[in-house]
Amino acid sequence: MARADGHLTAVVDSADKGQDECGVFGVWAPGEEVAKLSYFGLYALQHRGTQSAGIAASTGEQILVFRDMGLVSQVFDENDLETLPGHMAIGHTRYSTTGAHAWENAQPTLGPTGYGSVALCHNGNLTNFDELQSLADERLDKHREVVAAHKQKPRRTRAHRDSSSDTSLITELLASSDADNLTDAALGLLPQIKGAFSLVFMDENTLYAARDRHGVRPLALGKIDRGWVVASETAALDIVGASFVREIQPGELIAIDEDGLRSHRFAQEQAARCVFEYVYLARPDSVINGKTVHSSRVEMGRRLAREHPVDADLVIATPDSGTPAAVGYAEESGIPFGQGLMKNAYVGRTFIQPSQTIRQLGIRLKLNPVKENIEGKRLVVVDDSIVRGNTQRALIRMLREAGAKEIHVRISAPPVKWPCFFGIDFATRAELIANGLDTQEICRSLGADSLGYISLDGMIEATTQNSSELCTACFSGDYRIPIPPQADLTDAELSGTSGTKDS
Ligand code: SF4
Repeated sequence: MARADGHLTAVVDSADKGQDECGVFGVWAPGEEVAKLSYFGLYALQHRGTQSAGIAASTGEQILVFRDMGLVSQVFDENDLETLPGHMAIGHTRYSTTGAHAWENAQPTLGPTGYGSVALCHNGNLTNFDELQSLADERLDKHREVVAAHKQKPRRTRAHRDSSSDTSLITELLASSDADNLTDAALGLLPQIKGAFSLVFMDENTLYAARDRHGVRPLALGKIDRGWVVASETAALDIVGASFVREIQPGELIAIDEDGLRSHRFAQEQAARCVFEYVYLARPDSVINGKTVHSSRVEMGRRLAREHPVDADLVIATPDSGTPAAVGYAEESGIPFGQGLMKNAYVGRTFIQPSQTIRQLGIRLKLNPVKENIEGKRLVVVDDSIVRGNTQRALIRMLREAGAKEIHVRISAPPVKWPCFFGIDFATRAELIANGLDTQEICRSLGADSLGYISLDGMIEATTQNSSELCTACFSGDYRIPIPPQADLTDAELSGTSGTKDS
């Protein structure tokens, strides 16, 4: 196991978008280099979490875990991957809220069971953390009584819950079950977990994947010659050469080992897939519930052009996530699409502490204007969402300094006004620019000449999904998934009202 105490430093305001969450990956493939397959799978999921990464591999006899803070490429080198032999592996990339950057919260987690061990990776956010924690405490107390009565060495202590995260708690609950095997332990526990979870976990011999009854976060199943792969997004199947088989269904647990693939249903499906995956979170080349994310975003741009037309000379995108919608806007409006901003990829994630001079550069560290495309032009600037507005305000100022004549901002999602309790970290509700300001006021606050958001119906229709099967709560306030019992929607923090959001 690796451990480091380096501090991640975000040198630009990366929290000005809804922050996803985590990426999970699993592979069962005897004869393959499973740690390397996991490494490349995690590389494709890097956008889902850049603060820590980890892989656990099983030889059939034992599970080894390697995890650390940083990007996948910073955490692992060839030698590290060589230390993870086996026929099966799971992996994780993590995003966490400020203050929860600790190594202890990096995944996969590992816990001892009565029949071996369990390693687990999680994407989502539980909404009944306190209830589950009480259950874990009850089990621990019972375990202590039993070992004391029999004068045995305890198999479990509170130290096994080595962090306050959702993931660690699920691992402990699986490990502390009285069931004889992990399948039964999971089938007993999963119906009791509320909120959003896409899980990939394993014991020494069997790989498991499970998705909450709402299917909030994506989870896909793929096939390679010698086995099976599961991943948060289909793009991670593509990168390891796996062919897409199907999604893990909401409320489904699958188990994969030498006896093949078995499917178990632990809850009735009540679909409420996160619409924000289509808007911003997922990779454009991924497919969710039969729809390519890229084509949804292009269609959002087309609809945005119809809903909010404007006379302009050039459509530009806030790279990269605004690009497909900008292309759609340009196609529909007939206004040419051009490159107005160059992105300095991954500059925002570094172990190097920036100097005060560098820090003051702010958005210029991340985006640089292409002056000759901007000077004297009336611009349509297309972005996927506005959360706090700080990035857009700085961007508009930069574009004006570069000589833009007019700036018309178009957003391919409706205003974000409500908390997400299901794994997306926006900021605090009070920080949301759309919480209290109307569109005109936001436009003035940003310093734009005009501002237009796509309608809720327009965004939903662009995904071609059944609206009754989507979660749109952060835009609409319509919570189809039960929220934590103690949540206060009037001034709630936008995540983590129940335990430590860790994925
Ligand atoms: S509240 Fe918003 S970000 Fe959260 S799951 Fe629902 S649609 Fe997705």
